[in-house]
Amino acid sequence: MATWLYACRAMIIQPRIRGGICTTAHPEGCARHVRDQIDYVRARPRFAGPKNVLVIGASTGYGLASRIVAAFGARAKTLGVFFERPAEGGRTASAGWYNTAAFEAQASREGLWAGHVNGDAFSDEIKSESIAKLRKEAGPVDLVVYSLASPRRTHPRTGETHKSALKPVGRAYTSKSVDSETGKVTEVTMEPADEKEIADTIAVMGGEDWGMWMDALGQANMLAPGALTVAYSYIGPKVTHAIYRSGTIGKAKEHIEATAAGLTRRLAPVSGRALVSVNKAVVTQSSAAIPAVPLYITLLFRVMKDRGLHEDTIEQCHRLFTERLYGPLPAALDEEGRIRLDDWEMRDDVQQEVARRWERVTTENIAELADLDGYRGDFLKLFGFGLPGIDYTADVDPNVSPTL
Ligand code: NAD
Repeated sequence: MATWLYACRAMIIQPRIRGGICTTAHPEGCARHVRDQIDYVRARPRFAGPKNVLVIGASTGYGLASRIVAAFGARAKTLGVFFERPAEGGRTASAGWYNTAAFEAQASREGLWAGHVNGDAFSDEIKSESIAKLRKEAGPVDLVVYSLASPRRTHPRTGETHKSALKPVGRAYTSKSVDSETGKVTEVTMEPADEKEIADTIAVMGGEDWGMWMDALGQANMLAPGALTVAYSYIGPKVTHAIYRSGTIGKAKEHIEATAAGLTRRLAPVSGRALVSVNKAVVTQSSAAIPAVPLYITLLFRVMKDRGLHEDTIEQCHRLFTERLYGPLPAALDEEGRIRLDDWEMRDDVQQEVARRWERVTTENIAELADLDGYRGDFLKLFGFGLPGIDYTADVDPNVSPTL
């Protein structure tokens, strides 16, 4: 198991936001964010869950929360695969790097095996390295969580690099949108994707790579009897359908959902099962990049918080594991065979109220109708900023690295 070294070249780290992304991350803030999620899980009863888990896309967002629930809720061994950057020169590491350091340090303190492989999950090399590590240190997996969100994929067979596009399909679409930094509500027009952009987005965010992972694990005899695998999807409301569910990314999600049925057939030798879970909209590095989605999320958060229904990734993943994947009753699936963790988001009363507010929202009334502060707070938290108990004016060492 890796332990983490904290070398010393201290600096003051502040958020630096450019073009909707934050280029710095705070190691202590990320550690606090991870600890808060671990504490959420530890405050709840342990459950009989998976024993050996592979999480692909394990360093941030839904993948990180899944890993935390498996490890601290069911005491599973976890191997995390992700693509993150350590600190270099005067540059901080990426948030996912610090998150992993904090997760693995806490796991190690509690005697839980946790390992990681940092590199391109779409490649054959990273699949082989992950399988070798599992074979040596953990054994066959009984759960594989597929939680990648990536803007590009180099195909391991053709060598071609596909870039995903976040565009409508068929015709241009004009939507309200918010600049979450300034709070200005504007209209954006998105041109439709061409056939290549649709195919490329499916190649990146569809189910082919998920299948390749499962086949590689199966061929290596690294799937335990009854192994489950789950991939994450999203549907969302009518107001974002043109850009999300009926757009290029929605085509990729349809592909990943269709992949599940075929994968369950391929998992028959181990009596395994592939499932898709449709999760709630939350603020992550990926969702922040989709046009119109941040405005929807700010309105949704206000409405869900007012009704006491708000959830973030950790609450969602805890519910997924304890009530759906490993619950006392078999998971209720929708007519397409999917788990619906977006059940509260999609409730009629919630959606009707969000739609009413969507019609009315302007720069002048967004503070009253939407939860812009909650959105901004969640966004900064992704990078370790704005967390209580952290002195952001103090020097901190950005160099955190694993010793293997
Ligand atoms: P995220 O950006 O927080 O996490 C993406 C993860 O993928 C990170 O661990 C990152 O390191 C890893 N990654 C990206 N490219 C990689 C590569 N080439 N090789 C290895 N690792 C790589 O994203 P997220 O929002 O948690 O999304 C995870 C999944 O959940 C996606 O399928 C997304 O569509 C789905 N989902 C998200 C939301 C939402 O609102 N954010 C809602 C429902 C479903």
